[in-house]
Amino acid sequence: MAQLNIVLIGPQGSGKGTQAAKISAAYGIPAVSTGDLFRTHIQNESPIGAKIKEYINAGKLAPSELTNRIVAERLDKDDVSGGVILDGYPRDVEQLAALGALRPVSHVILLDLPDDVAVERLSARLTCQKCGAVYNTITNPPTAEGICDKCGGALIQRDDDKPSAIRERLKIYHADTEPVLAAFEQKGLVRKIYAAGSIDDVFAEIKAILGPVLNR
Ligand SMILES: [Zn+2]
Repeated sequence: MAQLNIVLIGPQGSGKGTQAAKISAAYGIPAVSTGDLFRTHIQNESPIGAKIKEYINAGKLAPSELTNRIVAERLDKDDVSGGVILDGYPRDVEQLAALGALRPVSHVILLDLPDDVAVERLSARLTCQKCGAVYNTITNPPTAEGICDKCGGALIQRDDDKPSAIRERLKIYHADTEPVLAAFEQKGLVRKIYAAGSIDDVFAEIKAILGPVLNR
């Protein structure tokens, strides 16, 4: 039986984490997100976690060498022996090379979202100044405009959610991801989905690409 080793690529706001969870549930293979792996290492206070924390505190991304080590360790576990969904990895060509030595990739799914739509989605996020609850004026608005449902606190737009900050992150995403996509495209692995549709519509397209769930 051919293994499903799926790489999910998409910008912030494309619903990548949501779709990874849906694929995982439907096809019975774990979703591995580098963001989650980092958080787990930090929570467990592992030596690697301490290193990651240093980078995050300095406002930097973890170096690929470190990320590669964490992912290699994760892909060595029994639960992913039958396949895996990778979310947030590989994010550059160095990571792509490391993955090549670990797994044959069967599918690359690009959740494509125009930058303007990503900015619109992400800048709709409001955070409660008092309790930290997160709202979205498009998908999850508060009952009363500008006021937290939970605690009555004022809702503000965090600096991270301002359009200029989002555009800056999108620029980095494109610069990092495009060479990775180009390499996967050369192997004919990339399937592009327009991710501005509903969660169910996007997932229906993913299922059409991956095919029926077989007994594995
Ligand atoms: Zn609140």
